[in-house]
Amino acid sequence: MLLKETQETLRSTLKKYFGYDDFREHQQEIIESVLSKKDNLVIMPTGGGKSICFQLPAILFEGVTLVISPLIALMKDQVDGLNANGIPANFFNSSQESQEQHAIFEKVIHKEIKLLYVAPESLSLLDNILNEEFISCVAIDEAHCISSWGHDFRPSYQQLGFLKTTLPNTPIIALTATADKATRQDILKQLNIPKATRFLTSFDRENITLEVRPANDRVLQIIKFIRKKPNEAGIIYCLSRKSTEQLASKLQQNGIKAAAYHAGLNFAERTKTQEDFIYDKVEVVCATVAFGMGIDKSNVRWVIHYNMPKNIEGYYQEIGRCGRDGLKANALLFHSYSDVIQLRKFASGASNEEVQIAKLERMKQFSEATTCRRKILLSYFGELLATNCGNCDVCKNPPQFFNGTIIAQKALSVITRLKESEAIGTVIDVLRGANNATIIDKQYDKLKSHGIGSDISWRDWQQYLIQLTNQGYCEIAFHKNNALRLTSFSKKVLFENEVVNLTRPIEYKEQVKVQKEI
Ligand code: ADP
Ligand code: ZN
Repeated sequence: MLLKETQETLRSTLKKYFGYDDFREHQQEIIESVLSKKDNLVIMPTGGGKSICFQLPAILFEGVTLVISPLIALMKDQVDGLNANGIPANFFNSSQESQEQHAIFEKVIHKEIKLLYVAPESLSLLDNILNEEFISCVAIDEAHCISSWGHDFRPSYQQLGFLKTTLPNTPIIALTATADKATRQDILKQLNIPKATRFLTSFDRENITLEVRPANDRVLQIIKFIRKKPNEAGIIYCLSRKSTEQLASKLQQNGIKAAAYHAGLNFAERTKTQEDFIYDKVEVVCATVAFGMGIDKSNVRWVIHYNMPKNIEGYYQEIGRCGRDGLKANALLFHSYSDVIQLRKFASGASNEEVQIAKLERMKQFSEATTCRRKILLSYFGELLATNCGNCDVCKNPPQFFNGTIIAQKALSVITRLKESEAIGTVIDVLRGANNATIIDKQYDKLKSHGIGSDISWRDWQQYLIQLTNQGYCEIAFHKNNALRLTSFSKKVLFENEVVNLTRPIEYKEQVKVQKEI
């Protein structure tokens, strides 16, 4: 606890330079900790107010606060914003003329600026000022970039460990919105600040209702969803540029004010869509993850994931773009088996393939959960929710289990007959007794089990097979054409009559009138 005068100084500085009357959760504690020269790790969701945690101490410190940031493109805006608030700040990069760089050094040496923004690549050019005589604090923004466990690893961040060695008595404040437990540990280790005080602001966004549905007839489901929410703004995230455009045009054909947004559009087109959305001329933006970064629109009421995101960090960040005004909002995710396969393909061959696949696996578990989804989501960020949230689809509609042993036996025996060499589609075709070209070609129609599951619809089979995979009764050989294979548990079902519990597939029977064929 600081002296009363000091607390008053903090508040008056907040008011004077930033115009706010009160600190938000944790801001004051963090600022006090920085001012007392401790190292800190701050985990706070996007929009939580991280910047003030280092900008306000920077004003009060005598020397300069060095801000390491990966986003050169945003540095100028940040510096302009600070200057406009009467806080002297600069950014430094390798593209500046040496004269300009020199002028910046002079300002640092004479303590004429409070903050200096720099990309990690340019740090090596700062030798002559990296000295405790001039530097009072080091802030490392987007600190998760240091870790190959993070979702946005940047090799240039990995050399930052030298800062603590070079400036041993200077407080470091590392900030990030997205760090799971492993990433957090790695940040502390790599920055050489094992004793840093950790501040974790809650990631819970109680006002957002979480829901996951199987991705059957997605477009129909989306049209139905939007028609129930007239005049509400929403974002639909898609995996590919092409699908943003296709979806937007299908929605338009159905009378919905929709637009597409992706990095392949030119600057003018993107700006127009952003502005149309902000000023409510467009209600729905079908976008790739490129959309939303700098968009400050507090009344986005819903976010739909047309495709599954590649990790929970991304999912969380994207759903966080709705309900920023604190009012009720909805996040709907479509879960599809083929998305998982697609995302696996993207991950394979990446330098951190293993990490990406582990993260995808967590995303998949979230999508297929039969327990409170918010609990799963928050536990990913290291937060424990004591009770079920009551505001997710699982809480609202707990799955009803039934004895699905016979269904499981039928599926597993077909997989056996197919010599564990076929993917889900063909397995279902054989179960249902289809006679298409592949089936005839491969003579699967001659199998004894051809058609043993014809009483169950294609879609229901799809969901049952996914459930069986999740429960470990069969597995997908991702490196062998996604063939369904048996596991050691399969035998228990096939030969020892082990009871398998399944849940009834969800049905979406309600009819939607669609203007054009989709
Ligand atoms: P982050 O970096 O965590 O995403 P920012 O630092 O950009 O978030 O802050 C998000 C928004 O919240 C900004 O518009 C900022 O001015 C505002 N903000 C920060 N602290 C406060 C506060 N104490 N009171 C009101 N608004 C605040
Ligand atoms: Zn819940």
